[in-house]
Amino acid sequence: MDDFYKENILDHYRNPRNTGSLDNPTHSHEENNPLCGDVLRLELHVNDNNIIDEVAFSGRGCAISQASASMLTEMLQGKTLEEAKAISKEDILDALGIEIGPVRMKCALLSLKVLKAGAYGLSEEDWNTDDDNW
Ligand code: ZN
Repeated sequence: MDDFYKENILDHYRNPRNTGSLDNPTHSHEENNPLCGDVLRLELHVNDNNIIDEVAFSGRGCAISQASASMLTEMLQGKTLEEAKAISKEDILDALGIEIGPVRMKCALLSLKVLKAGAYGLSEEDWNTDDDNW
């Protein structure tokens, strides 16, 4: 395990970026990961130019899930909604930068699940984190 990435994850966990909630979110969604007890809520504000100009998350859970959400909020700033929808599993795993085992995969990807479900307006039943086609 690379120490730089481990430190980076702990830093995002201890000092999460963009936490809280927005006054007027255009998109908001919450999901949980019952396997680990992680809960995440993500709120976006998309402006008239279709740019995400505000993003906030709140939640609780393990270091991986919270760090992943914090990193994702940094990726989302200034992107269009279409660009946000294109963020992949690999982008999240690259940002985390450590080997994620099968047990932790749902923790690592919870933030992406919240984003995709929120951005597309999908219900939880439509969304399957085991599906690779996202
Ligand atoms: Zn977790």
